Amino acid sequence: MRKTLLVANWKMNGSLDLLSQMHEALLAKSYSGVGIAICPPFIFLPQTQNLFKDSQIAYGAQDVSDQDNGAYTGQISAKMLSQLACDYVIIGHSERRQYCGETDKIIAAKCQRALDAGLVPILCVGENATQKQNGETEAIVLSQVRSVVDSLTTEQLEKLVIAYEPIWAIGTGLAANPLDANKVHELIRKASLQTTRILYGGSANAENIREFLMQPNIDGALIGGAALKPEVFVQMINISEALCTKVY
Ligand code: PEP
Repeated sequence: MRKTLLVANWKMNGSLDLLSQMHEALLAKSYSGVGIAICPPFIFLPQTQNLFKDSQIAYGAQDVSDQDNGAYTGQISAKMLSQLACDYVIIGHSERRQYCGETDKIIAAKCQRALDAGLVPILCVGENATQKQNGETEAIVLSQVRSVVDSLTTEQLEKLVIAYEPIWAIGTGLAANPLDANKVHELIRKASLQTTRILYGGSANAENIREFLMQPNIDGALIGGAALKPEVFVQMINISEALCTKVY
């Protein structure tokens, strides 16, 4: 059974005020069919824990160190995140691959650290516009997935969440065609498990979420811009709740 999951990636946005507003908006209702997680910047995680600890809303970080501890100024370890009872950590987002030089090897190490600390990694993969134009989507995505999946045990793999985020769709308002995205998800599923939750990310919003979630291999969404607006995020959750958990 793959329970639908909606994850808010705030990136370097938001504030304590927005966190309170999100808390108010999300806790105004109860949830049954959909898992929800908020990933604000690190600095807001203690307050996120205070606000959401006894709720149905999960939370997590947007990155984690590939090291266990030591002289790594500015980095945050998986064990530290688990001390704040984080559930998830986003790993390998294209912005980190692009701006922070994260390689597949580093990303695989981060996933391992996260799993060792009891966190669920949300591994982001996806091709850029040029790679898409060159017909390389399949090869790029599969090599990104395999570089992590191949080093995991089946037990670890059962916990992994994967987000397919075509880079050209992130923050551009140009979401992928849901049918095309579903085909990529199908490939990812073949390289992972039937039970792996595979999220779509890239300009998902209240207008298009239904069509994405209606695809058989799309199990949820990683949401950037639209998840910074509590009323839009709640709308997306409501739409998702109206569709059913996929059972396989
Ligand atoms: C993201 O950055 O993970 C993302 C999907 O952003 P947006 O929804 O704004 O495209």
